[in-house]
Amino acid sequence: MDFRLSPEEESLRKKVEEFVREELIPLESVFEKAPDIFEGSRWKSRAKLSEDPEVKRYIEIMEGLEKRAEARGLWHLDVPKAYGGLEVSNVAMIAVTEELEKTSVPFELGNHVSNILYACKGEQIERFLLPCIRGEKTSCFGLTEPGAGSDPSMLTTTATPDGDFFVLNGAKVFPTFADVADFVQVFARLPGTQGREGVTCFLVDTGTPGYRVTRSIATIAGTEPCELVFENCRIPKEQVLGEVGKGWALNQAWLGARRFQVGIRCHGASKRVLRVLRESLKDERTEFEKFSASLGAFIGELEALRTITYLGAWKADQGLDVRSEAGCVKLFGTELLHRIVDFSLEVLGPAAYRKNHPVARIFRHARSRRIVEGASEVQRHIIQRALFREGTSYLELM
Ligand SMILES: Cc1cc2nc3c(=O)[nH]c(=O)nc-3n(C[C@H](O)[C@H](O)[C@H](O)COP(=O)(O)OP(=O)(O)OC[C@H]3O[C@@H](n4cnc5c(N)ncnc54)[C@H](O)[C@@H]3O)c2cc1C
Repeated sequence: MDFRLSPEEESLRKKVEEFVREELIPLESVFEKAPDIFEGSRWKSRAKLSEDPEVKRYIEIMEGLEKRAEARGLWHLDVPKAYGGLEVSNVAMIAVTEELEKTSVPFELGNHVSNILYACKGEQIERFLLPCIRGEKTSCFGLTEPGAGSDPSMLTTTATPDGDFFVLNGAKVFPTFADVADFVQVFARLPGTQGREGVTCFLVDTGTPGYRVTRSIATIAGTEPCELVFENCRIPKEQVLGEVGKGWALNQAWLGARRFQVGIRCHGASKRVLRVLRESLKDERTEFEKFSASLGAFIGELEALRTITYLGAWKADQGLDVRSEAGCVKLFGTELLHRIVDFSLEVLGPAAYRKNHPVARIFRHARSRRIVEGASEVQRHIIQRALFREGTSYLELM
């Protein structure tokens, strides 16, 4: 087992390290006051049309950074070569994100492309996939429903075949940024099916008759999940992503692939919190001593998180089944970040409770990370199923 970077990957990592040091870290104080929409990728969506001068000012800064990153060859890193990208490995993407996480400036290299869109075929490629790669369109992910969250196989939105169309009926809750996205990847089931059977993914343009975003909900994490309704929404069969009835595998692929990135983001955010803490305790020798055992334990756990994250990404690069690793990284990473940030707020005291304080900001995100893309309890269940109930060899002596 060897998840060291190849010489090309190491040179990419170094380039990102330089970019972070030269372009992002100097902007940290500017971004401390940025509006919430700059905490994620929302600013890349139709929110760009905002007339708010403050939003426009930050968009200009972001667009300047984009140009400079592109000029350094730091764009389209995980996009397949067939679509003009660098197609770097999962391990290299973890190393890139580890560098980006050294700064609190929420800048991502590349446009946000949902990984399941690489299943686009024929005209879908020009209509949905390429505009996302070029940054001309954004999409949202519509899986969760009022009665189907942790267990999406309970979803009840229906897709009834009608000649060359499917007719969608149902409701979705939480698709993040649906209100500013150009289209939604929505999961619905064929009539008469249940569980994982019959689930189908559709690409539905915002503005399609019968599809409405009924509200968006501002959250403590700065993101805005929405509620969607489909009422006799007619979608041509050409807008099925992948195969009819085979959408379950797509939703699992979307969730699984993201979990290693979640691990390294939790690792980086935790280290930024600990850096703030070290700065505040540096002249307080007695205080430092008082917390040293807790700090030592956290740092040991962070090293373990980093290792299982790289290991999982390496296994994914080898094409191995990484369901239990993905569950472990998501669970361990999000829970550890939460404990570190909670402890740090305790130590830092009221000074860190200011809404824009870097630790308070991370705290708000840390809480939702334990729910979004599969709550902690669900990850525990997945790990147990993979390694205890089904993974018979896991507990064997030989
Ligand atoms: C900020 C935010 C953004 C989101 N963005 C999106 C998005 O873009 N697209 C999308 O489709 N969804 C999105 N979601 C939805 C998210 O994925 C769901 O909230 C999550 O899957 C949990 O589903 P639920 O809210 O229905 O909770 P429930 O399924 O009702 O679960 C509630 C709690 O019960 C516990 N629980 C559930 N099942 C079990 C079990 N088997 N054993 C033990 N305990 C259990 C867990 O602790 C869980 O937190 C988002 C949610 C949030 C908060």
